[in-house]
Amino acid sequence: MDIIPTYSYFILAAMLLLALFSFVVGLNKHRQRIERGKPWFGEKITVTGAAARFNKSSFVHRGLMTSRLLKRPIAGTFHGIMFIGALLLIFGHAVFALDFIGLNVYEGWFGTVFLKVGRELGGILLFTGVAFFLIRRLNPPERLHAGEHSRAGFEHGEAFLLLIVIAGFLTEGFRLAAEVSGSNSEFLGTAIGGLLLSVFDHEGAASGLQLMWWIHALMGCTFIALISHGPFVHMILGPTNSAFANSRPGINLPPINFDFDEDEEEEDEELSFGAAKLADLSQKNLLDATACLWCGRCHEVCPAAQTGKDLSPKKVMATCAEYMAEDKFDDDSLIDVLGLDAIFACTSCAACVEECPVSNNPAEVVLEFRRHFVMDRSEMPETMAAANRNLESREHPFVGTSSNPQDWRKNIEVPLFEPGETEYLLWIGCSVTYEERAQEIARAMVRILDAAGVSYGIFEEPRCTGDPAKMMGNEMQFVEMAEANIEEFKAQNIQKVITLCAHCYNSFDRYYPELGANWVTVPHTVLIEQLLAQGKLTLAGGTDEKITFHDPCYLARHNNIVDAPRAVIASVGQLIEMPRSGKGSFCCGAGGGNYWGGQGGTARISDVRMQEAFDTGADKVATSCSFCNLMLSASSTRHSEDRLVYDVAELVAEKITIIDG
Ligand code: SF4
Ligand code: SF4
Repeated sequence: MDIIPTYSYFILAAMLLLALFSFVVGLNKHRQRIERGKPWFGEKITVTGAAARFNKSSFVHRGLMTSRLLKRPIAGTFHGIMFIGALLLIFGHAVFALDFIGLNVYEGWFGTVFLKVGRELGGILLFTGVAFFLIRRLNPPERLHAGEHSRAGFEHGEAFLLLIVIAGFLTEGFRLAAEVSGSNSEFLGTAIGGLLLSVFDHEGAASGLQLMWWIHALMGCTFIALISHGPFVHMILGPTNSAFANSRPGINLPPINFDFDEDEEEEDEELSFGAAKLADLSQKNLLDATACLWCGRCHEVCPAAQTGKDLSPKKVMATCAEYMAEDKFDDDSLIDVLGLDAIFACTSCAACVEECPVSNNPAEVVLEFRRHFVMDRSEMPETMAAANRNLESREHPFVGTSSNPQDWRKNIEVPLFEPGETEYLLWIGCSVTYEERAQEIARAMVRILDAAGVSYGIFEEPRCTGDPAKMMGNEMQFVEMAEANIEEFKAQNIQKVITLCAHCYNSFDRYYPELGANWVTVPHTVLIEQLLAQGKLTLAGGTDEKITFHDPCYLARHNNIVDAPRAVIASVGQLIEMPRSGKGSFCCGAGGGNYWGGQGGTARISDVRMQEAFDTGADKVATSCSFCNLMLSASSTRHSEDRLVYDVAELVAEKITIIDG
């Protein structure tokens, strides 16, 4: 080690400090930009806030173990190889610093494991991983260019990293060549040293070592200095963002406080809702945009993007990141650059949320812009606007429906909820009330509840949760409807609610509690599964019918409900999975108010999904959300006159009917 004079280590330490300073300056620049956002759920993103919101599971699994990358095994494996290689090298170089204070760290088992073999292996793994990603950058999959954005800088960083590793091996080779007693545990370094000795003598190798040592040191420090100023900052921001991820999956839109006193508002401060510019977004939204890799995985799974509509969640995040980099926090051209058609094409399916490797939530950002279009500008696609007006005037979104609110229970006896007597409220909801096809789901559920002897009742007048208003961006209307519902529920002392629609379930369970709701909601498919497990329902068995199940986004992705409907289907037929199932399900296209919009692009989302269902060869397609049923039924009729789409309740009720004879 004497070949490198002691003063070189002092200079290296100074260079390292400078590099770390640059690293901290870069991180601080990101922090300052993120801080210009609004508090998130009423809190600023601070170190103490981080402790309070720390999502350990997400941090460990998604942040450190990069679990979401492993969904794509090849890229995930090479990323893992690169990550382990980097860790081994960081540790090996840190330990090597002990040499500086006089400890002979190369001696004994410690030196062999951590320095000789450890660093050697680290270099090989890092080189392999980085080479894979560089080659892929040079032959990029479509998603890297999707959404009109491709991230510059990755390939330069990767090429530079490869050169650093090569310089490291050359330095090692020269060191081993210069040392009279070579090592054989540094197998690659020994081989390189052997080659160098065929060109240089020991003295020449010592000079080579001095030169390469400086080149390697300079390159390493430069890389550290640049990390936080380019795309490699994702190494820090990815795990950080995962640590802040909401512990509840799916979309968690922050509430808006409408209880303001207009007189107390500053005269020059305009009241504004949602987001038109960066400064309107939350600090978490801005952290998302900063952490975004522009990898396009969200674009690949987005049903709107995949059916040719204007929306690309990647474009939304990348555009926000560009505005941040250009310091355009108060520039409300942002919302227009993203565009109304794109913002309203989002079905709020949360596929992007589930896929993002750095735990971004592009859907929440999209919906903030939507809130602004609706509540500030009164702008939205006309079909949605009509549904919205109906919500405001009639408290349901079904414009021009020919159904009477009581039609669904014509010719059947359905008990009304009696406070203090009835256990469950069977919540009917708007789609079941006003769409003929969905009314059959409610009738099937009534048969099931009667057969199982469940104590239940309905409201005399069906109501809507307000979910369509909320997801179309009309938070004010949602709050009004939700508060009226909560008042009614409290007046009737309702403790347990059964929903037939995944959106109703999500609203009651996720958003109503923050407005004062205190009841338990159970999706009908979960209750049916419980009734079957408790032996309260006996079904005719022995069916060979093949059934494929379409997971509603609002049950599977938003609420982790994937097993219950499958258990129910297993009791009535043979389950065949579609390629995209469970939390990886493909949307039916109805969510986010797109039941009333959703046109345009190259295909209907529900047609794509229905084709996927047909391709399984199943006899029937089952689902467990009234909106999914309506969308898929409509697409199914374009292929066949036979009824192919059923709710799980209908499949179960059919079997009960057979027993009853
Ligand atoms: S939001 Fe996530 S998935 Fe989409 S481009 Fe950014 S990092 Fe990739
Ligand atoms: S929530 Fe669904 S439709 Fe909306 S941006 Fe994400 S993937 Fe696309």
